[in-house]
Order: sequence, then C-alpha cells, then structure tokens
Amino acid sequence: MSQLQPPHLPALESLHPDTRLVHAGTLRSQFGETSEALFLTQGHVYPSAEECEARFTGDSPGFIYARFSNPTVAMFEERMAAMEGAEAARATATGMAAVTAALLSQLKAGDHVVASRALFGSCRYVIEELLPRFGVPSTLVDGTNLDEWRAAVRPETRVFFLESPSNPTLEVIDIKAVADIAHAAGAALVVDNVFATPLWQKPLALGADCVVYSATKHIDGQGRCLGGVILASEDFIQKHVHTFLRQTGPALSPFNAWVLLKALETLPLRIERQTRTAVAVADALAGLPKIERLIYAGRPDHPQAAIIARQMTGGSTLVAFDVAGGKAGAFRFMNALRLVRISNNLGDAKSLITHPATTTHQRFTPEQRAAMGVSEGLVRLSVGLEHPDDLVGDLKQALAQV
Ligand SMILES: *Cc1c(COP(=O)(O)O)cnc(C)c1O
Repeated sequence: MSQLQPPHLPALESLHPDTRLVHAGTLRSQFGETSEALFLTQGHVYPSAEECEARFTGDSPGFIYARFSNPTVAMFEERMAAMEGAEAARATATGMAAVTAALLSQLKAGDHVVASRALFGSCRYVIEELLPRFGVPSTLVDGTNLDEWRAAVRPETRVFFLESPSNPTLEVIDIKAVADIAHAAGAALVVDNVFATPLWQKPLALGADCVVYSATKHIDGQGRCLGGVILASEDFIQKHVHTFLRQTGPALSPFNAWVLLKALETLPLRIERQTRTAVAVADALAGLPKIERLIYAGRPDHPQAAIIARQMTGGSTLVAFDVAGGKAGAFRFMNALRLVRISNNLGDAKSLITHPATTTHQRFTPEQRAAMGVSEGLVRLSVGLEHPDDLVGDLKQALAQV
C-alpha cells in the first residue's frame, strides 16, 4: 500500500452496484495503469531492516507475503466487499475452502452445527462427515421448515449453515427468519449465496453473519479458474477468519484474483442477461408433456414464491426440471442436446446441464437423494449467454427425442 494509491472516487455508498464493480478496490502503481495490475509475486522486499520490522509489527502498512496479503488479491476482496455491502472480505483458493474456513474458524470440539439438508454435495461432506470427526456434531434439517431449525438447537449450537436457492432443487429458505432463530440461540448464520449471485440476494442485509461464494461460478462466469470469498463484518473477520486463513493457507493465487477482479466488471451484464434468458427458458418448458416438474425461483408456481418476493430481486440463472422416464429419459435428453453442454459446473457463459443423481449427488443413497428432492430424472440447467431462442430450440428438439 505504501507505493499503491486508490484513485479518487465519489463515496462508495453514493454509487450503484454496477459502478462499484468497475471501480471499487482499485489500487494504482506509479505507472498509472488503466487496468488493475497483476502482482504475480509470492512476497515483497523492504528498503531496510527497520521497514521490514515495522511491516511485521503492523506500524507500517503494506504487503508481506501472498499467503495472507497481495495487492491483486486485496483489490478483488475490496471490490467484492463493495458489491456485497460487507465491511470485510477474504479471498480463498476455492469455494469449498471458503465454506470450510468460514465453519472451522468459528468452531471447536463440543460445539454443534445445524444446517439445511439440501446442500452442495461437498458442503454436506464437511458438515456431515468432517466436522463430527473433530468433535463437532451436526443436525440436518428441512431448511424450509422453521420448526425443524428451532427443534434442532442445543445449548452448544454455535453455527447455522444454509444454501438458498439450494443445489440442485432450488429450494428457497427464509433467511431472515432463520437468522432470528440462530441469533436467539446465540449462534451465527453462514449463507452460501452462490445460486442467488451477489446481484439478486443480500444475506447480510437479511441478518446473516457471514456470506460465502464459490467465485468459480458466476463471478468468473467464463470457466477459467477456481476461487472463493468470505464476506462479513470487520469484527467477524478479525475474530474468526483472518488468523485462520493466514496460518492455514488456503490462499487465492494472484493470477486467479486478477481474472476474477476483471470478471466483476461485467458481472451485472452477464447475470441480468442470463437471468432474463432463464426466465424465458423456464416459461417455454413449463407444462410441456415430457417435463414432469419444473422449478425456477422466478416463477409464481415456485413453492416458496412468497419468500422469494421478499428476499430476492431476481430469480437466478438456474432452472431444474424432471425429464419423463427417470434416469434413462434424462440421459437420452442430455445426449440429444447440441448447444447445451453436459458438465458439472454452473454460472458459465456457456449453458451447461447436470444430472445430479449420478454426479454431484452420486455418493448419497437413493433414500437420501429422495429426501433432498434429487429424483432420477432431475436435471439442473445453468443458463448461459446464448440467445434465448437458440437455447429453447435446442432444449425442445432434445425433449422430442425422449
Ligand atoms: C460450486 C459450489 C461450491 C464449491 O465451490 P468450488 O469453487 O468448486 O470449491 C460450494 N457451494 C455451492 C452452492 C456451489 O455451487
């Protein structure tokens, strides 16, 4: 920071999200570069031993070592915090590193965690298998049932965790109501906001204590690199996250931070367009004879439409539906697609389709999958940047072959 200067900007609070995503967090070197610089360096050198000492005591601001401080990573963190309306952000190597750090950094043996059952498969692993191995038992609940959250609370409950809309069934949880239950129990609420994107839902404003993203998804949005981010109050980051990350090291590469930083400039353009197309796709497919159930968080027939109206400003870029004929029907449909690609990823410029029962949710028993709403015919469509008519045309011609 000693050599890098933030440009003069109006107060961030006076700027719209689109503007913040272009300018917030920028630091310029003495060369006055237009585009944010990529500082691909492990560490820094100091003009004197005295300055080095001052850097370590914190008396002199500046960067030390890329496991916990790098100028390009810092720009990405600042820009994400400005978008989310969070006081502080810390970047991580992947979304799972963000989830794991947000949880582990708050917990110790003897604590208890409550989480919604419909979670990304790896999040389920951390909560259901990893935490209990270290003496932190967990209870999984139907996230849409507030009574189950209340009933799961124990005196030692420290953390609530949820994902909304959930992967892959796009279930929506009342974040404000769950935050109130968590706080009454003396627990903190962590929200995985990947499916809503930073554009359509603000969990901190709804009462959550911490928000995590896989930046691998919409934030990159072009399938290039992995990344994650944890956002919370300065107090929460200092108390739990900062030292944990600094000493355990799941750091984001400066190169990936640079890619993600540049991607934030176009985030609203991409998400608005992909969401508009998702609405068009959902409306075109709903009610077709070979679609047995269609779930989209922007349609009035969504089971939690009233909550969506209160807590989301857009319906996300994901659509889920059951293809007639179970697994065989879903596979035939996916194999017949010519434009939409088969993948496990989401949030990409390219439309991608996933069969959760045989991929992301393969390790669960059929009974566990049924409890999560992951049926054999369910596919999850991540809507990309293609023209809506081309996408609808591809989906319909593939359905005709089921
Ligand atoms: C992808 C994803 C993750 C994990 O992110 P990675 O970057 O792949 O580690 C966590 N939660 C949700 C909801 C996701 O979609």
